[in-house]
Amino acid sequence: VGESSSNGKILMATVKGDVHDIGKNIVGVVLQCNNFEVIDLGVMVSCDEILRTAKEQSVDIIGLSGLITPSLEEMSHVASEMQRLNFQIPLMIGGATTSKAHTAVKIEPKYSADATIYVPDASRSVSVATQLMNDSKADFIAKTRADYEVVRKRIGDRKPRGKQLRYSEAVKRGVQLDWDNYQPPTPSFIGIRVFEDFPLEDLLDTIDWTPFFITWELAGKYPKILQDEVVGVQATELFNDAKALLKRVLDEKLLKASATIGFWPAERTNGDDLVVYENEDRDTPLATLHHLRQQIEKVDGKPNMSVADFVAPRESGLKDYVGGFCVTTGHGVDELAKAFEADHDDYNSIMIKALADRLAEAFAEYLHRMVRTQLWGYADGETLSNEELIKEKYRGIRPAPGYPACPDHTEKATLFKLLDAENTCGVTLSSNYAMSPAAAVSGFYFSHPESRYFAVGKIGRDQVESIAARKGKKVAEMERWLAPNLNY
Ligand code: SAH
Repeated sequence: VGESSSNGKILMATVKGDVHDIGKNIVGVVLQCNNFEVIDLGVMVSCDEILRTAKEQSVDIIGLSGLITPSLEEMSHVASEMQRLNFQIPLMIGGATTSKAHTAVKIEPKYSADATIYVPDASRSVSVATQLMNDSKADFIAKTRADYEVVRKRIGDRKPRGKQLRYSEAVKRGVQLDWDNYQPPTPSFIGIRVFEDFPLEDLLDTIDWTPFFITWELAGKYPKILQDEVVGVQATELFNDAKALLKRVLDEKLLKASATIGFWPAERTNGDDLVVYENEDRDTPLATLHHLRQQIEKVDGKPNMSVADFVAPRESGLKDYVGGFCVTTGHGVDELAKAFEADHDDYNSIMIKALADRLAEAFAEYLHRMVRTQLWGYADGETLSNEELIKEKYRGIRPAPGYPACPDHTEKATLFKLLDAENTCGVTLSSNYAMSPAAAVSGFYFSHPESRYFAVGKIGRDQVESIAARKGKKVAEMERWLAPNLNY
């Protein structure tokens, strides 16, 4: 074997509290194919372990990855620690939740001893890593620094799009639904129902394949992408490989689909809270869900929305409900991925994770249809093609905590308690509210015909103080979870 001719040694890790690693794994494979040595520490890696290993192994570059928004804060923490501990090697930032703007504004200023570089995708990682390892490194860093300075200035200069309302005023300007002329639908049961070992075959028709190609960094909509002039051949090959592995998964029952859903009597109180009751007596509260509201004034007279608006308020006297769900097709994935890796088959190790993610989303879609047409049963005449289904052209929504209409990840703790998710479908939450197994989807069900998705966007300190008080948490803690939404 002789001398190592590596282009450089790169440590890669998904940060503490986050479990997603498909993107990072693809970057790792691409770098290895280009003769970089990659030390992959896996997922949920603490700052200490990352920095200790980087020192011990004398790595040339550290690459951090993350998918959920709390990972942004963790990455910024790693950058500060690198500065404090006198590191002098480049830091690469990547993953679905990251961006050039965030890297420029929140991470780079923490670490000035060497480069901090946002890497938008795996295909870009080789050119970034190569430039960080060769003689032009100083130039490359200088150029990136100047570029990020421009980004910071642009963001600093950006005028807020509207005036921020007082939180109490935003609540008054919420969605006004006509509760006097509305009868909420009654679910077929109250409490939770568990689906164990759900047939995977049933989920195939509701798979949304377009995000699968995005995972592999092929741009284009399915099925057109298979005929695409540029990537069609590659996409077709990938799709055939996916279907072959999917067939094995079904034939050999390699993955398991588990889910828990629940419906509870609920009423809106306090502006943005939903009190959830154990039963129809509505005198034993099980939990309170706390939601966030748009606070930037609308110029066009549109409402300042909160998902709480879609549930009948206590004063209406109506019997309304809210639902919740957690699904996973991820049990067994880690073992399969490890077996492929032991076989030096990185491709299928990534493929099985990508397929499990697709099946989990398909399961969420499939169950949501069962909810609308049977279990909550407010849309029993629904007939939608699979395409319309994937476009979510139906009545009701299933917003997921951590997404724009309910950006507070910590609400997953309440949702999981209501569903007893850990014991019923075996899904757990990390310290940063990432779900394990990674191939899992959770959220709330809202049935009102007017319910729809939106983005809460920027909120003021008065709203953060309110939600902290209602949740019984410290303002500083809520500021940490809601960092991307703060308007101050
Ligand atoms: N078919 C896609 C589904 C995922 S994206 C796939 O297979 O990957 C759509 C889901 O994201 C929605 O069902 C909802 O759960 C969540 N979502 C999208 N926009 C949202 C928003 N603004 N607020 C809350 N949740 C949202």
